[in-house]
Amino acid sequence: MLCGFLGAGKTTLLRHLLAQAGTAGAGAHPGRRWAAVVNDVAAVNIDAQLVDAPPAGKLVSIGNGCVCCTVRDSLAETLAELCATGTYDHVLVETTGVADPRAIAGLFTRRNAFGRSLGDFARLSSLVTVIDSRHFLDEWQRGRERPPPEPGMPKPVFELMVDQAECADVLLLNKCDLVAADELDLVERVLRTLNPRAELIRTERGQVACELLLDRARFDPVATPGAAKWIRVLQQPGAPGGVGPGTGVRPAGAAVPHEEEYGITSFVYAERRAFDRERFLQLVRRGLPAGLLRAKGFYWLAQQPADIGFLSVAGGVARTEAVGTWVAELRERGVITDAEIPASARAHWVEPAGDRRQELVFIGTGIDESAWRAALDACLT
Ligand SMILES: [Zn+2]
Repeated sequence: MLCGFLGAGKTTLLRHLLAQAGTAGAGAHPGRRWAAVVNDVAAVNIDAQLVDAPPAGKLVSIGNGCVCCTVRDSLAETLAELCATGTYDHVLVETTGVADPRAIAGLFTRRNAFGRSLGDFARLSSLVTVIDSRHFLDEWQRGRERPPPEPGMPKPVFELMVDQAECADVLLLNKCDLVAADELDLVERVLRTLNPRAELIRTERGQVACELLLDRARFDPVATPGAAKWIRVLQQPGAPGGVGPGTGVRPAGAAVPHEEEYGITSFVYAERRAFDRERFLQLVRRGLPAGLLRAKGFYWLAQQPADIGFLSVAGGVARTEAVGTWVAELRERGVITDAEIPASARAHWVEPAGDRRQELVFIGTGIDESAWRAALDACLT
């Protein structure tokens, strides 16, 4: 499964991989039969026109939507049909530039209303996220100059790029020829921080030996979606535990390195008192500490006691939104009884707040943790 933002070089990589399918005898597995699925949000699939069907293979184009959200069923049907032929050893899927790898992984790991999953037909071998080194670095460095998006606005581009890097088995650092050596080190450091589990491969113009990507199944239904550093931090012993409402991600055995690489530190801010809305929003929009690489988590505002607040910081830009209703609110309104409190909320339950809480992960270099904690404490009511 090839993911990665627009222009990262997915199509070039796909073409390069498919070209290798034709070199019978050259690889370790001559004559492998491959199919390719190319997905484009537009009705006319430009990428598909750039890609030649592999020899003895098949090229399927899925247009008019994105396989991670609007045309999920098309991907499921296409893969089921390809598998039913019994003809293909590998299927390479190029997703749209805005596709969320987490949603794609879910197609293989979760069952739909009919009890079916893509995992019934095919095994997801690897989530590969292709990254344009230059673009990623530029977005990363420009982030701090941008005004924070208003609540409810769509995800900034860079946050989407970070999401794609955080849920991946392989990070293909493409266009390495377009950045200087020290810049490449910086991109690599940032990516290793965001996703310590993924294998990092440096490449230029998508020139990757197919054996590197196809001969090792790396996807793990628990470890891959749980690879993000912020998730690992929350799961450390001593952390408040669980990842919070809705995510349901609990990687088993996701070891957190004792020595933090590159001087990067991380910590969880957990509290059972509400934030004052103005003070908290002012702090995350104007007062983020220098060196903050990533922040993510849930917050609770005194002025909006019903709403589960969600904070995501990537590249210096803070995005806040309400993502749901605290279970405690539902109980107070009499919508549910004590017995109906879901286990996921019960795991975080502390009277009198219930599941309402501050649970925020901060990752960065050179952050003065006690000063930052004090700044957050000052937002409490
Ligand atoms: Zn999508």
